[in-house]
Amino acid sequence: MLRSKLHAPMLREDPADAEIASHRLMLRAGLIRQSANGLWSWLPLGKRVLDAVARIVREEMIHAGAEEVLAPIMQPEDLWRRSGRWDSFGAETLRARDRRDRGLVFSPTAEEAMVELLRADGALGWRQLPLVLFQTQWKFRDEIRPRFGVMRAREFLMKDAYSFDIDEAAARRSYAGMFAAYARIFRRLGLAAVPVRAATGAMGGLESHEFHVLAETGESAVAYDPRALTETDPAVAMGLWASADGENPGMPRPERIETARGIEIGHIFLLGDRYTRALGLEVIGPDGQRSFPVMGCYGIGISRIVAALVEACHDARGIRWPRSVAPFAATVLPLVPDEAAMSAARQIHDALEAGGHSCLLDDRDVSAGIKLAEADLLGLPLRIVVGPKGLARGRIEVTDRATGDLREIPVGADMIQVLGDWL
Ligand code: ATP
Ligand code: MG
Repeated sequence: MLRSKLHAPMLREDPADAEIASHRLMLRAGLIRQSANGLWSWLPLGKRVLDAVARIVREEMIHAGAEEVLAPIMQPEDLWRRSGRWDSFGAETLRARDRRDRGLVFSPTAEEAMVELLRADGALGWRQLPLVLFQTQWKFRDEIRPRFGVMRAREFLMKDAYSFDIDEAAARRSYAGMFAAYARIFRRLGLAAVPVRAATGAMGGLESHEFHVLAETGESAVAYDPRALTETDPAVAMGLWASADGENPGMPRPERIETARGIEIGHIFLLGDRYTRALGLEVIGPDGQRSFPVMGCYGIGISRIVAALVEACHDARGIRWPRSVAPFAATVLPLVPDEAAMSAARQIHDALEAGGHSCLLDDRDVSAGIKLAEADLLGLPLRIVVGPKGLARGRIEVTDRATGDLREIPVGADMIQVLGDWL
């Protein structure tokens, strides 16, 4: 991709109203723009990251046995009345009336919609279970205080999954399976996320965990057993002491507890049969008996994760994208508008792209200083500088944005191999 063709308006100065690093950097690097309070558009670079996060989440959901569906964003009032949440969900739900004067809700979550989707085709058979459906869909919540850019928006992208099981023991197995999938997702994203046992609160239910990325600017206070950050066995991690807001009734405290601020990026619940019972979704057991399936629900804030990644991966000069979600794998900077540098840069760009590594070539007629500063701000994993001095010695200079490692590589046949290995 040529930088001259990429619509990425970057800002030299910090926007005055951006309070935290991710908000500031996402605006400055040209990833997002505000459309109205709490409503955001994604520019090409931001959309690439959003898609990369969604892709990893989708792959791991499918790997864990979940099936992808898509429910409408607008949900009928009647459904929310039947579940009992029309009155209880509160002012966060945005409601509308259509031309026939029927009430609609702009989906803040989709338990009702998923149960109804299954119920419409009659009772489930026990052989179909466990059944896990998921979607990646925009949600709307009329937050009292939208802030921090896409971190707390009114419209945001969520992956929401819903499990259905024959009884509580089976539902607990589905819950553990999703917990393990979440651990894999956050590892692939390059995020250290602490699982925190959470209150079941407004959703009701039997069990709940939140996943928090530790960051000074996080909105929650998290207290946790430090082993939660390094424990790789999900079954052990699930039982470790951790809590958002300092309390965890019923669990003995470990000897060491650390406290930090956290950004909630995921939340899972073992719900019981509240929704299936209220909406009349049944399962027919092996003995022909009918019962209400036991449900779990599992959210991940895809758009919030983009901000959390920036919050966790940046320095004074800009973003440092993890390789798994970077909008491009590498950027090539010909430092002078000289034909030799430009043609070497183009060759590197083309070869990387041909090798399956997305690459941004800064072909603009701007100063080396601007190119270098923008490359730092945007923070692609590898920066490849083609400068006049290096080129005279037959060398390019490659810098790893995350570690600062710098290497000179000879221009030639092996060059792409070396770069590819590094990526
Ligand atoms: P919070 O406590 O931050 O308000 P929540 O408990 O209301 O979140 P859930 O209902 O558990 O959120 O939704 C699942 C996930 O969706 C959250 O873990 C979070 O990552 C994301 N999310 C929730 N609200 C927002 C929002 N306003 N903007 C962006 N992402 C959000
Ligand atoms: Mg929550």
